[in-house]
Amino acid sequence: DNTPASNFLQNIIAEDFDAGRVTEVVTRFPPEPNGYLHIGHAKSISVNFGLAEANGGRCNLRFDDTNPEKESQEFIESIQADVEWLGYRWDGDVRFASSYFQQLYDWAVHLVEQGKAYVCDLNAEQAREYRGTLTEPGKNSPYRDRTVEENLDLLARMKAGEFDEGAKVLRAKIDMASPNMNMRDPIMYRIRKVAHHQTGTDWVIYPTYDFAHGQEDAIEGVTHSVCTLEFEDHRPLYEWFIDNLPVASHPRQFEFGRLNPSYTVTSKRKLKQLVDEGVVAGWDDPRMPTISGMRRRGYSPEALRKFCEMIGTTRKDGVVDVAMLEFAVREDLNENAPRAMAVLNPLKVVLTDYPEDKVEELTAPNHPSREDLGERVVPFTREVYIDADDFREEANKKYKRLVLGKRVRLRNAYVIEADEVVKDDAGNIVEVHAHTIPNTIGENPEDGVKPKGVIQWVSAAHGVPAEVRVYDRLFNHEAPDKGDGNYMDHINPESLSVITHAVLEPSLAKAEAEQGFQFEREGYFVADRFDHSSDKPVFNKTIGLRDTWNG
Ligand code: ATP
Ligand code: MG
Ligand code: MG
Repeated sequence: DNTPASNFLQNIIAEDFDAGRVTEVVTRFPPEPNGYLHIGHAKSISVNFGLAEANGGRCNLRFDDTNPEKESQEFIESIQADVEWLGYRWDGDVRFASSYFQQLYDWAVHLVEQGKAYVCDLNAEQAREYRGTLTEPGKNSPYRDRTVEENLDLLARMKAGEFDEGAKVLRAKIDMASPNMNMRDPIMYRIRKVAHHQTGTDWVIYPTYDFAHGQEDAIEGVTHSVCTLEFEDHRPLYEWFIDNLPVASHPRQFEFGRLNPSYTVTSKRKLKQLVDEGVVAGWDDPRMPTISGMRRRGYSPEALRKFCEMIGTTRKDGVVDVAMLEFAVREDLNENAPRAMAVLNPLKVVLTDYPEDKVEELTAPNHPSREDLGERVVPFTREVYIDADDFREEANKKYKRLVLGKRVRLRNAYVIEADEVVKDDAGNIVEVHAHTIPNTIGENPEDGVKPKGVIQWVSAAHGVPAEVRVYDRLFNHEAPDKGDGNYMDHINPESLSVITHAVLEPSLAKAEAEQGFQFEREGYFVADRFDHSSDKPVFNKTIGLRDTWNG
């Protein structure tokens, strides 16, 4: 079932088909290549590609590259990689707004010829004064009544580079008294003497979003141009340009509410600041809400798609509890991640009854319910590591781990009983001496004294040293944008802790980069996409076994 859940846009499309307004569905995802995509974009991707998929249509990937200063090839490449990783295929080649610059310019000339656009010399400050306010109408620019001939001449000279940046703009001639500020003679072109990553130095004037977007949709035959709610007030302008230009098709714009998960920010500008100021290690830092960050954290594309569907698509902006995203991630990993044993804080246990050079090759299932995931060999030896937290000299009944004089089961192996501790001069426990209870692999002890619990372990002789990176939330405020001061004031100083002395069961050294596992009793972990190798394993903690934040 690929019908998006609670998606009002799907209902609109169904009505459009019924009424004969459309015969196919064409959507587009139109990122500006000025940063890496984030979780909000994943939602937009899932909406746009999802609507096309559900209706047998197609979806374009179009770079809305009309602001050359902030854009780059690096961003173009990362965006394509992210969309593909999420599992979507765009129709045909990627598209660029910049490839329509000549057509857009010709349409600007058309509007000038129709007396519907003019060159204005007001500077930014003057333009602001003339624009009026929400409660007061604006005033007409003194340049508004230039003749068509004069405007054509000035526009051509703007394009030829005769004027400085800011000296002139091209504006649509609409209505300076409109209650909608966007209709008060909006800017169509501004002078920017900067090279463009696609068009080089061909252009020194660049179209605004408002003059470009609807026309790009029309060129591509987009039927449903889906964007976020902040563009609602731009819709009359979108329609004005479409209605006043000889475009081949009439796309319509629809808006939905932005996705803002709690405990993070979703704005490329803000995420860029975190990167530029070294708060994180890069756009793909596993703490980042970027698609590449979540990928490196060990979130699967399926989990992200599931989450985007789960939250529905509505016309409300609001904060979505990040626990919902984590729920989707955890569900997916619980079902699909093989189990393995890792000891993050090793304490040596010597099994004094067990022969020194004996190695038993025990087998362990890779998943409690997925037989298709198979099993693996886990070597058992006289010396094993357990987690230091899993041993106490004394403890009450609630502590279901290893205690002096008591028993615990080593997962997939024997029941053992602790006999004594070895301490260093400072009184720290450095070793536990214990013994195995015979015939307890898969069986309870014959004497009827049952173990207290089950703990993970790794053979000291076979264990593989590893680095494990444990992450916490990047922000310690539920809505970092809305707290006191700036979002930068709400950075969690303890969002990363690196464990350098973890020990993994040997099968984990063979893990491939980006493979995810459940480390039993510890949580879900993924082999780092870039830093992991079998010589030097590096794992990132994806998420805990349970939601510890909301109780
Ligand atoms: P940012 O503020 O992060 O730069 P943007 O809206 O300027 O976001 P674009 O590159 O223009 O980013 O976005 C491409 C598409 O993704 C747009 O249609 C935009 O509406 C949508 N989008 C961006 N952020 C979100 C979000 N948080 N939730 C849903 N859709 C989003
Ligand atoms: Mg944008
Ligand atoms: Mg933006």
